[in-house]
Amino acid sequence: MSRFLSEKYISLKPYVPGEQPGDKRYIKLNTNESPYPPSPKAIQIVTQGAAEGLKLYSDPVARKLRKAISSYYGLDESEVVATNGSDEALCFAFMAYLGSGEGIAFPDISYGFYKVLRDFLGVRSEVIPLKEDFTIDVEAFCKTPYHVVIANPNAPTGIPLSLEEVERIVATNPARLVIIDEAYTDFWGKTSIPLIKKYDNLLVVQTFSKSRSLAGARIGFAAGNRELMRDIDRVRDCVNPYNINTLSEMLGVAAIEDTEYFSECVAKTVAERDRTAKRLTDIGFEVLPSAANFLFARHKDIGGKQMYLSLKEEGVLVRHFDVERIKDFARISIGNSEEMNVFMVKTLKILEGVKKK
Ligand SMILES: *Cc1c(COP(=O)(O)O)cnc(C)c1O
Repeated sequence: MSRFLSEKYISLKPYVPGEQPGDKRYIKLNTNESPYPPSPKAIQIVTQGAAEGLKLYSDPVARKLRKAISSYYGLDESEVVATNGSDEALCFAFMAYLGSGEGIAFPDISYGFYKVLRDFLGVRSEVIPLKEDFTIDVEAFCKTPYHVVIANPNAPTGIPLSLEEVERIVATNPARLVIIDEAYTDFWGKTSIPLIKKYDNLLVVQTFSKSRSLAGARIGFAAGNRELMRDIDRVRDCVNPYNINTLSEMLGVAAIEDTEYFSECVAKTVAERDRTAKRLTDIGFEVLPSAANFLFARHKDIGGKQMYLSLKEEGVLVRHFDVERIKDFARISIGNSEEMNVFMVKTLKILEGVKKK
């Protein structure tokens, strides 16, 4: 770092994204991207010369995208704000609601970005441990006086809270804001979005990075009651007024309108997830019940780190978290059938090697 870096940032631990290696071709099962290309209708937009429009500034409010998202969910346009990935929606929400001494509560095992944002903004937190079975402690989240952020389904466990449990957390204390991060909810087929009509302390965040195959386009959104959305827009206009680029807006509209292609991709991933979970269980893995597009699994004969390293050597990338409670696990994103077949073959080979020793 240079000598100019603000002192308050010197000890920060930035978010560490999953590897995107360039050294050789891996089967990439480490960052929960979709193995399928974006909707053909989205791809068409790029090939049709839409890039020419880039000489002009993008629409600051990304009206067409807001319209497409709100109409998909039966919301009013004023109940949605489009963001540069859902990470930006999370960041805007933290900035909007945690500026002056308020605290935020989240599970000990969850999306790593919450801690990063907390530290970056210097806000207080209550880190609530998952229960023994890696489910979220609903009672504790009902009790905390702090605002709440929960990934549902949770990452990297894949375990969801029911919509009734989410509603209970939201309803018990209207003095707090509850942010539900639904990055993986399409693989589960449920969403808390309709609840925003009933509760003004619920903010739902979603992304086009996983289920809509557009991780590189950086599209996400926040949904909530219109006053909340005004707050988010206020922060957006201060930090990054043209947060959605013109091409991404067009891609996002095409992707969300192509419901048929979307359902097809999600169904393939869900089928592949369930097939892989069964195969892993059959060879002795403990696999947490995932509602997402990844599996979180451990095996008594091999640690998570060794599994990650051995698979990497075999050309398959998975994700390992060097965190005490979950260090025996590996997180495996669900690829297409061929990728998962190779993954299974390599995993078996590695396990046999471990046993021989
Ligand atoms: C991937 C992910 C996000 C961020 O996605 P973006 O690419 O920024 O839209 C947010 N929350 C969780 C839990 C995720 O896994």
